[in-house]
Amino acid sequence: MLAIISVSDKTGLIPLAKGLVSAGLTLVASGGTAKTIRDNGIDVHDVADITKFPEMLGGRVKTLHPAVHGGILARDSESDRKDLEKHNISFVSVVVCNLYPFKKTVQSSNCSLEEAVENIDIGGVTLLRAAAKNHERVSVICDPADYDHIISELKSGGTSRERRQLLALKAFEHTTSYDESISGFMRRRFAGNGERALPLRYGTNPHQKDDAELYIVEDEMPIKVLNGSPGYINILDGLNGWQLVKELSDATKMPAAASFKHVSPAGAAIGLPLNETESACCMVSDLPIDTKKPSLAAAYARAREQDWIINDRLQKIAPSVGADRMSSFGDFIALSEKCDELTAKIINREVSDGVVAPDYDPAALSLLAKKKNGNYCVLKINPNYLPSETEERTVFGLRLRQKRNNAVINAETFTNVVGKENGMNKQAVDDLIVATIALKYAQSNSVCFAHRGQVIGMGAGQQSRIHCTRLAGDKAMNWWLRQHPTVLSLPWKNAIKRSEKSNAIDVLCSGVLGSEIAIDQWQHISMNPSNRLLRYEERKQWLSQQTGVVMSSDAFLPFRDNVDCAKQFGVSYVAHPGGSVRDEEIKEACDEHGITLIHTGLRLFHH
Ligand code: 5GP
Repeated sequence: MLAIISVSDKTGLIPLAKGLVSAGLTLVASGGTAKTIRDNGIDVHDVADITKFPEMLGGRVKTLHPAVHGGILARDSESDRKDLEKHNISFVSVVVCNLYPFKKTVQSSNCSLEEAVENIDIGGVTLLRAAAKNHERVSVICDPADYDHIISELKSGGTSRERRQLLALKAFEHTTSYDESISGFMRRRFAGNGERALPLRYGTNPHQKDDAELYIVEDEMPIKVLNGSPGYINILDGLNGWQLVKELSDATKMPAAASFKHVSPAGAAIGLPLNETESACCMVSDLPIDTKKPSLAAAYARAREQDWIINDRLQKIAPSVGADRMSSFGDFIALSEKCDELTAKIINREVSDGVVAPDYDPAALSLLAKKKNGNYCVLKINPNYLPSETEERTVFGLRLRQKRNNAVINAETFTNVVGKENGMNKQAVDDLIVATIALKYAQSNSVCFAHRGQVIGMGAGQQSRIHCTRLAGDKAMNWWLRQHPTVLSLPWKNAIKRSEKSNAIDVLCSGVLGSEIAIDQWQHISMNPSNRLLRYEERKQWLSQQTGVVMSSDAFLPFRDNVDCAKQFGVSYVAHPGGSVRDEEIKEACDEHGITLIHTGLRLFHH
């Protein structure tokens, strides 16, 4: 029986060769390997002794020959035995091979293409694959760490079938990772301009700069960078945001927009026309948002708007409808359809990191490309791109794989009304769709409040559900209070910046003026601040007038406290998967508060 040895990494080669000989095997080795073995006084044949063919092409062809591969691939059968006899070929029962150091070679920054190509191993991969395929009879060894125990098994009667199966698996993993290095190198060299691979500014943090890239295999990259240079988190936000707006617009047949921060939506909305109060925005003559038809501009305004409805002349602020403008500061935006100039104008006023959309009007693109000193990240996504059904990620060197969360959320999701129905209508269903699709792309746990086609409070990334609900409620409260007459009539002093106004309103709505923030700090922003405190009773009274808000939860509500909490912020509809041992208690709470309760049967954790 023969053992074929062909190794680049010659670690442990001599003890291995000695062991194989003492296990009764005849050694056959390729050029350099044979020389090392022979130089150490061990009997070994050259490959040419069995192939009757010299190594050629400077080593490109060494072991690629039927005399080698016939001996490896032959089964222990009458017919294969006859074939080997006919061609005077011996059975090979052990193959030891590790491959050219391709990875190491291309890691050197000045590695030329020629050098890389010469390090693409052909015959070694063939040896490994052939031997691994025929593991029923052949032991294939590609890792020097396995030499010792394989030798001892060979010496005591041969390797077991289970051992050979594990060795075969290891060999295929070795060739797979080898091929991945080659295709990765070629992707970067031949299609690294964004066609298949895209270098990223850096990874999650600036010190994670090396190797940060976005790439796709076996398909064209669905994303084109039109301006700027995306980082790792931009891509995460962009891809999550895109899925969210695509699903939202598919489900509601309206334009949709999302504002992402740290891989959760701070805001998301459909482009429902602005109502009378909201249409105060039209006071801004250069932003003529359609008040009759749904529009992308309205969607983005609802998802993000900071204070674009300031009437500069009157120095007043009209109700600001955006979801969570503080959290959206420096956001990554996703738009479900071609970005028009009006939407770009609104974006242009905000502090934002980038945007993803299926296309851009030329005027919109030229506006956005000037943002952030020309560094604003503008991504164009192919709206027809469909990802594969399974997804994988690596954490701490271990790979995780799962089916994509391709659950479809639409009006059908909210038909199972549990308990007393207190009036479902198209707006409530649309709002439930908005809240629930937003949860699908928010870091769990998450609870989302929505109203009039937009998120008004997102409580994401909390370990406890009631904390999610409180957080979402707190944001919804801030949203309601921004529309309080006291806020709307704030007498701003002259030359106060939009960001200062925005911060001041947040302080007022959060109820921390006079405690966390001294009233003195406000003197330069607004007149008579002590008359503008929005006291507890005023806040409570204002909130008690609000209704019609929907609340959705990414997993079941475990206790009724979530419902009691939600009620304070105008929640009239609650959707959750159901399935808690306290479902009855939740239902009672909803009935008590006049809330319509819906079981979706759909858990939507996202990480
Ligand atoms: P050696 O040092 O023995 O000359 O070469 C060992 C290396 O050659 C191993 O890494 C093995 O994978 C590789 N090898 C074996 N057969 C062939 C072949 O036919 N063509 C090429 N290109 N490489 C081979």
